[in-house]
Amino acid sequence: MHDTLPLLKATDFPTIRRRAVQTLQINLGYTCNQTCLHCHVNAGPNRKEQMDLATVDLVLDAIAAKDIRALDLTGGAPELNPHFRHLVTKARRRGVHVIDRCNLTILFEPGQEDLAEFLAAQGVEIVASLPCYLEDNVDRQRGAGVFDKSIRALKRLNALGYGRDELRPLSLVFNPQGPALPPGQIGLEAEYRRFLGERFGIVFTRLYALANMPIARFGSTLVSKGQFRDYMARLRAAHRPENIAEVMCRSLVSVDWQGFLYDCDFNQMLGLHLHEAGQKHGRLHLEDWLEMDLDGNPIVVADHCFGCTAGQGSSCGGALA
Ligand code: SF4
Ligand code: SF4
Repeated sequence: MHDTLPLLKATDFPTIRRRAVQTLQINLGYTCNQTCLHCHVNAGPNRKEQMDLATVDLVLDAIAAKDIRALDLTGGAPELNPHFRHLVTKARRRGVHVIDRCNLTILFEPGQEDLAEFLAAQGVEIVASLPCYLEDNVDRQRGAGVFDKSIRALKRLNALGYGRDELRPLSLVFNPQGPALPPGQIGLEAEYRRFLGERFGIVFTRLYALANMPIARFGSTLVSKGQFRDYMARLRAAHRPENIAEVMCRSLVSVDWQGFLYDCDFNQMLGLHLHEAGQKHGRLHLEDWLEMDLDGNPIVVADHCFGCTAGQGSSCGGALA
């Protein structure tokens, strides 16, 4: 795989600084029931990296100490971490909004038979990737049979109130298949709603249309196909300065399975650690953060950041504009 970091590091992306942290995004580990072609962390059933209980408890300490309002859980399949339910239950008890980045097929894995009921009872928001509403495209990207299982999972979640009831939000995520910016989020959401509703009777709360970042497997494919420069030029040409005010890193901290901190999930994939103001290098851990304040800290930026500010803008919560 081509490492795109050397192509991104020299940047003229504006300097940005942190505001108060509201969201913690936690990667609970790389174990997954799927092995998708495009997976940015190369997750799969054979990956053993998992956040341990001591680190999960540090996450809970940080939530309490920093008055965190939202906890965004990712992986791998975050639900396969043995401490997932402990973390969700404790965070919900504190009134924290919990988001589970769920691949949907996990609901049918052995040992996860009651997962949907658990998430519904806890009022966890489910954010599920459905890169297309066409079966062939989804199966090509995520594996044979994944579309069919995803549809069954969505029906099951609807039956539990997901997508219908405001305490059980069900959000779908779209990424373009190739080196293009995502279409307008509002129009695409209407298309998804019409297709999934008419064909399968499925309802959902909202659709997030995200831009592909020129990093990890997608970035590597761009390099292999000789499309990297063109894609970067497209992102730069579509840069909208007004999106900078809302990029997610200003109010989010991303944490890896070992407890190290990053300004966002993309920086985590690139190995660009969050470090103290005034330091060019170094890496901070949850334990360090408990002893210090990050407000005003400069954010580590590189050319991939144009992926967040291009066009309608892109973040974990969809378009910015
Ligand atoms: S479901 Fe997500 S984490 Fe799992 S292999 Fe696919 S992309 Fe990776
Ligand atoms: S890529 Fe990360 S650091 Fe850069 S603007 Fe987007 S969220 Fe912020």
